[in-house]
Amino acid sequence: MSKVYFSKDLGKVLEKLDLSKLGKRVGIKLHFGEKGNVTYLKPEIAKKVYEYIKDKKKDLEKIALVECNVLYRGERMTRTSHIALAKEHGFGFADIDILDGEYGEETLTLKVEGGIINEAKVGKGLERYDSLVVLTHFKGHVMAGYGGAFKNLGMGLGSRAGKLHMHANVSPKISKSKCIGCGTCIRNCGSDAIVMKNNKAEIINDKCTGCAMCIAVCPVGAVKIPWLSSTSSLLQKKIVDYSKAIIEYLNNRLVYINALVNITKDCDCMGKKQKPIVEDIGFLVSNDPVAIDKASLDLVNKATHHLFSMINVANKNLPTKYAESLSLGSSEYELINLDS
Ligand code: SF4
Ligand code: SF4
Repeated sequence: MSKVYFSKDLGKVLEKLDLSKLGKRVGIKLHFGEKGNVTYLKPEIAKKVYEYIKDKKKDLEKIALVECNVLYRGERMTRTSHIALAKEHGFGFADIDILDGEYGEETLTLKVEGGIINEAKVGKGLERYDSLVVLTHFKGHVMAGYGGAFKNLGMGLGSRAGKLHMHANVSPKISKSKCIGCGTCIRNCGSDAIVMKNNKAEIINDKCTGCAMCIAVCPVGAVKIPWLSSTSSLLQKKIVDYSKAIIEYLNNRLVYINALVNITKDCDCMGKKQKPIVEDIGFLVSNDPVAIDKASLDLVNKATHHLFSMINVANKNLPTKYAESLSLGSSEYELINLDS
């Protein structure tokens, strides 16, 4: 049975963080919040975690806040604007390392054994780290059901190509009405998969490798992400498969912190103000991603009288069950309340 530590006080759970699992080059994986969102993980929380590790781990050579670019258009689409937004949101206290390059083009391909996919495309900058603190703001998510440790790790560290791979089963599409025929996508497609017909770009599906570069470079947002080509359950499983690849790549040198505060129906990628659906619960720490997400779900369901289990369509029990079947952890956990 895995141990999950709980407290309303972040300082108390940090004392239970298993620093022996971390190496000398530590990345703190978090989400800086979309522009316009106000309920993302507060920088004060991240700063406390960052300073705790810096203070306690005497052999540290490198520590930074790490993240990858997102698939859709917005401030977090390129490294430069992503870092600028992170600083605007208060995360300028530490080095910020966007692992998949300026346009999300820097990918490290990892093997996935036993999952529903064979490979995971993650930010190449992961090579700069030997361990991760997965610092997660726990909340709802429209397609994945909820955003917990797996979502933060697997989806979050997918490069742009990886995020397209998880979200869609088909190539992007170009909107003829929006395309202005500038040819930027053609010049940036490394697979010669885009042609111009009647001054409108068109993707040749058989040639497209799903790198998602055309989505990033189109100046008018004419390249559409085929969100609806996948299902929630496929997305959830791919996220776990990506997490598995990263966990194995790092030889399981990961620790997990879930912040059950400002819990909203939708995720922090939403560029809008959201109201929390429940009072803040507290913080969890564990070495086990399955146990910490299961414990988070149980606590939030209890606090919301199961309202949380009913929002968003996805089966919220699927990710932990699937991850358990891949031996990534245990849904049987012992919750140790440090406040009692
Ligand atoms: S996703 Fe990549 S390979 Fe496919 S058309 Fe766009 S740029 Fe080309
Ligand atoms: S970059 Fe966008 S607007 Fe330009 S040709 Fe490609 S799809 Fe059309």
